[in-house]
Amino acid sequence: MKAILVRQFGGPEVLKLEEVPTPKPAAGQVLVGVHAAGVNPYDTYMRAGTYAQKPALPYTPGSDAAGVIEAIGEGVKKVKPGDRVYTAKTVTGAYAEYALALEEQVHSLPAKVNFSQGAGVWVPYGTAYHALFHSAKAHASEAVLVHGASGGVGTAAVQMARAIGLTVLGTAGTQKGLELVKREGAHQVFDHSKAGYQEEIMKATGGRGVDLILEMLANVNLAHDLKLLAIHGRVIVIGNRGEVTINARELMARRGSIRAFTLWGITLAEEADIHAGLIAGLENGTLRPVVGKELPLAEAARAHKEILEPGAAGKIALIP
Ligand code: NAP
Repeated sequence: MKAILVRQFGGPEVLKLEEVPTPKPAAGQVLVGVHAAGVNPYDTYMRAGTYAQKPALPYTPGSDAAGVIEAIGEGVKKVKPGDRVYTAKTVTGAYAEYALALEEQVHSLPAKVNFSQGAGVWVPYGTAYHALFHSAKAHASEAVLVHGASGGVGTAAVQMARAIGLTVLGTAGTQKGLELVKREGAHQVFDHSKAGYQEEIMKATGGRGVDLILEMLANVNLAHDLKLLAIHGRVIVIGNRGEVTINARELMARRGSIRAFTLWGITLAEEADIHAGLIAGLENGTLRPVVGKELPLAEAARAHKEILEPGAAGKIALIP
């Protein structure tokens, strides 16, 4: 089969399409025929060798795939050949024609969700779900600012927050992104590339501030986020690419808090809760993964460059 291999950490050019043996599922494993693989920013940090988790080389990147079960190992009960699934982590990597996964790493992909959308489920929607429900403990009566709403996690968070009744404010850095965020359910949108947009956000809340901020770029925004919080407000740090100085008095004055997590650190019970919620939302149409771009698997390097550039508009899917 064809698979992307990383033989040394480095820039996008280290992603090479190679011919490798198709794996066979052992007991408790399944073989997924990958129809689409999702590209996430952390794939690029891992490839660069700068992420907290450093895989043993060589490795095939990717945790998010969608496809069809091709074969199952001994004892597998959850799925059978022919079932449509999305993966939440894999054993051999998602950027490939086939991926080996543990039985518990595959989840039913509802019929109304296509494979490219399915490749955008686990990391983006899992993160948005954990941020809103487990970390922030969001309530329908609250107002949320999705700070970076045009990308994978942001569009997921906007759809979810809107579906459960929150007032949703979202930001993007391009006109296309702003339109997307509005279309996916934000009540109001703001351009984070424009000077003074934070004042516009405060004005839109009548000076009260927002109850929640889902923050995609904490190193740039965290200090100012604290000033946008209402009393008892919470900032949930999802993305961060550097250091930041904050004035804790801004938190003290608001009895506010900053919470943070990585999806890798969640419990099995939280993960089970997330999949139950996501599958229900995908089935009833409240969750509709937005695919901004489909690229052939061979163009994985291009996908890694583009996902870090400004102008996000949903997810990038690689098609084997
Ligand atoms: P993505 O699809 O590449 O989207 C990035 C988002 O950040 C876009 O909406 C982009 O908007 C926005 N952004 C750019 N500059 C910004 C600024 N100055 N202020 C606010 N937002 C800004 O990435 P993603 O998959 O949504 O992930 C977002 C971040 O969360 C990444 O850093 C990722 O590594 C991290 N993440 C963390 C976890 C976790 O477990 N904690 C899980 C998933 C993702 P424009 O392009 O429109 O400017």
